[in-house]
Amino acid sequence: MLSAEIIAIGSELLTPEKTDTNSLWLTGRLNEIGVEVKLKTIVGDDAARLEETVRDAVKRSDVVITTGGLGPTEDDITRQVTAAAIGRELVYHDEIEAHLRTRFRAWGREMPEINKRQAYVIEDAEILPNPNGSAVGMMAALGEKYLIVLPGPPRENQPMFDDFVFPKLREKSGAIVFRKRILKVSGLGESAIDEAIAPIYSAYERVSTSILFNKSEVEVHLTAQAANAAEADAVNDELAAKIVEKLGVAVFSTDGEEMEAVVGRLLAERGATIAVAESCTGGLIGERLTEISGSSAYFIEGVVAYANEAKIRTLGVDPEIIEQHGAVSSETAAAMAAGMRVRAETDYAISVTGIAGPTGGTDDKPVGTVFIGFADRDRTKTFRIGLPGDRYLVRWRASQAALDFLRRQILKR
Ligand code: ATP
Ligand code: MG
Repeated sequence: MLSAEIIAIGSELLTPEKTDTNSLWLTGRLNEIGVEVKLKTIVGDDAARLEETVRDAVKRSDVVITTGGLGPTEDDITRQVTAAAIGRELVYHDEIEAHLRTRFRAWGREMPEINKRQAYVIEDAEILPNPNGSAVGMMAALGEKYLIVLPGPPRENQPMFDDFVFPKLREKSGAIVFRKRILKVSGLGESAIDEAIAPIYSAYERVSTSILFNKSEVEVHLTAQAANAAEADAVNDELAAKIVEKLGVAVFSTDGEEMEAVVGRLLAERGATIAVAESCTGGLIGERLTEISGSSAYFIEGVVAYANEAKIRTLGVDPEIIEQHGAVSSETAAAMAAGMRVRAETDYAISVTGIAGPTGGTDDKPVGTVFIGFADRDRTKTFRIGLPGDRYLVRWRASQAALDFLRRQILKR
């Protein structure tokens, strides 16, 4: 198996403001073709440290990929430093300069003289064209190893990697292909899930399975290895189907789809419509549902009824109900959902009322107490949950629980 390491270059990546995401994306791609990332480094715009890092990297790894620092300015040092690290010269390419001049003219500008720096390429390296920017990439073979130098912006380095680097590395890494599938499960804990499905996935030697908790749901990650992508996908499909058979309706997604997309698809398939009445989630459910393109087919309306007056005025909740049971109660959640559905004239409505915290909890109803309501033409249902976490998590988990409740109700019909 080929080993790789990634070097993200740029002083801004060492500040709290900017995260290195290039290495995450590259790691995903490399894993697909059985190349294992063993080390990642972030180096500022510092010639000595960068040179040392690259020199060490090409000693220990089969594939070394750098991103960033290929711009035309003084602080863009990657070109000369990577060349020095592998003991090669930079060679000037007239055709790159000519190409750059044409590009600039097409934008109605003259090429600034400093951009000439971008026409220098490591001796004997393959030039990787960049249709989305001015810096070309480079791929230098060092015996059996590769040093690959890519620009920083993702919209430039991703197509460059996919078009020129990926095919070459796939060929070199041999016959193994890795394919990943993510199943998402609601309403069951990690250990319960593992207990139920361990006997199933242990029988698949060529699939590695991991179970992780993610904000409000458990994810089951399957990574199958096979001789080609179709075979690996088929193994994942088969294993995923067995897991779904075992866990049933708790599995809401078998290909990494978000809950709002799953719910949207169910509504669209049935030609059904939805409205949401939100208190403690403050519009989060409406936001999530409408983030899905095509949601106008089923999402009719969302109301953020935060104050009691709003629940009464906008949703028609009987003031008596709130007085008797409180705004955070099963009765209020039911009245919110029913009122919302009638006003919006939808097939379904869901509602949320709860205590997001950190203040406002009582002995009866501690922080994290949330009531979810559901209404269709015939009936209203509610349920109570106690959600752990800070304000952000309680609100997020409440939105997830409401969408999941809706999903399960739709599936029953
Ligand atoms: P340019 O010609 O645009 O200057 P460059 O190759 O010099 O390209 P940088 O200047 O290092 O690249 O980075 C340009 C931009 O690309 C950064 O502002 C940042 O938005 C993005 N970028 C750079 N490195 C990373 C990284 N590791 N992860 C995510 N984004 C990055
Ligand atoms: Mg730059």
